Amino acid sequence: MFTTTQGAHALFADLTENAGLPLAHAELRRSPRFQQHDHVFFGDLALRRYKHNNRWGFDDRDVRRVGQLLADMAVDFDDVVEVRFPAYPELLNGTILNWRHQVATWMYHLARKQQTEEDWGLDSWKVIGANGLPGTLTWEMFVAVGNQPIVAGTLPLQMLRWSGQSWLAPRSYVQMMDRWQEREAEMTATFRTCCSCGAQSPGWGQWRTPTPAGYVTRCPECSAAAFPAYTGQLDGVLYDSPRQRRVSPRDYLCRLCGLMQASVWDHCHTEGHGFVRGPLCMSCNTSEGVGFADRFLREGGAEYLLQCRGCREERTLASRFHAGVVHLHVESSQRHGRCRQQPSVRALDDEPGVYRYALRCASHTPVRQWTVAVTAEEAVSLVGAFVDGVLAEMRRGTEGLSA
Ligand SMILES: [Zn+2]
Ligand SMILES: [Zn+2]
Ligand SMILES: [Zn+2]
Ligand SMILES: [Zn+2]
Ligand SMILES: [Zn+2]
Repeated sequence: MFTTTQGAHALFADLTENAGLPLAHAELRRSPRFQQHDHVFFGDLALRRYKHNNRWGFDDRDVRRVGQLLADMAVDFDDVVEVRFPAYPELLNGTILNWRHQVATWMYHLARKQQTEEDWGLDSWKVIGANGLPGTLTWEMFVAVGNQPIVAGTLPLQMLRWSGQSWLAPRSYVQMMDRWQEREAEMTATFRTCCSCGAQSPGWGQWRTPTPAGYVTRCPECSAAAFPAYTGQLDGVLYDSPRQRRVSPRDYLCRLCGLMQASVWDHCHTEGHGFVRGPLCMSCNTSEGVGFADRFLREGGAEYLLQCRGCREERTLASRFHAGVVHLHVESSQRHGRCRQQPSVRALDDEPGVYRYALRCASHTPVRQWTVAVTAEEAVSLVGAFVDGVLAEMRRGTEGLSA
């Protein structure tokens, strides 16, 4: 049965209270790598997260099964094997899905912090001492640090002993962590695979689309084949109106990037507008909502913003993009003397009623620097002219199509 993340966490903490294996059960709430594969690992045991009524949680049978297995696991500190940690230079090209690598990274990190305090020679913090630890790091400091490294939901430092020659850990723990590395790597590869054509996404967490049932991995080609492009079906419809609520954004491709299935209806927040602009994927919704306004416009976002009927009719843009228009204008119009170089433009803090910019042309010695100010009044007419240009471009686009 579905149980919420909080419920699952309480149940899991209860079941594993007396487990011999030291666990960081709060990882269940944090789900550190769920965007890659929907699972939380405790050692080599994986718990799958599900989405139910738009809330994330777990199947309580999974929680009971994994919790019980961990509670019953015997850790024999008399049956130990050697653990070899990578030396400093090897660390630089390691992977996060390697528990020896993660522990060693932590060791060197602490040793380096130690070194700056005691003002040691340059590279001594990379050298392993008689206690098996680098630099001046002692075992007491290593384990005393409040936040011990958590690897696959376990606390590896509590498993380690220094014999005088080498690091030792219970055989069962070492075997379990080695299986974890393989399992999580396999799982990451599986979840990187497009659900329709089997292509591998270029990076972890890419092509992942949230749906009511969890994440789905789908490549841009398969997304374009599965979902129609949005062509203004809800043009002029108010957000949160009965008409909008009857249509799901998931029935369309994202109106901005056209690469992913959409997740949300986006609308214009300008007072008196409130019109639907289009269906967006999560990533495009974020760049429209909080990304840099000038970058959004530079990447062709104005045509999208004008999907709001109110903005089109009033020849304006949502206010957060006005500064972006002024920024682009200053960049394209400001030159000093006869220099033809485009200066770099940095927005200064807005004063009420004026936009101010620092400009810099680096192709001279000394570098030329100056500032400009644009009043709110000028900004309004710049936005109007900018919108006229974009609307004319859009009309040419439709005429081109019908010709
Ligand atoms: Zn595909
Ligand atoms: Zn998108
Ligand atoms: Zn928005
Ligand atoms: Zn609008
Ligand atoms: Zn210049």
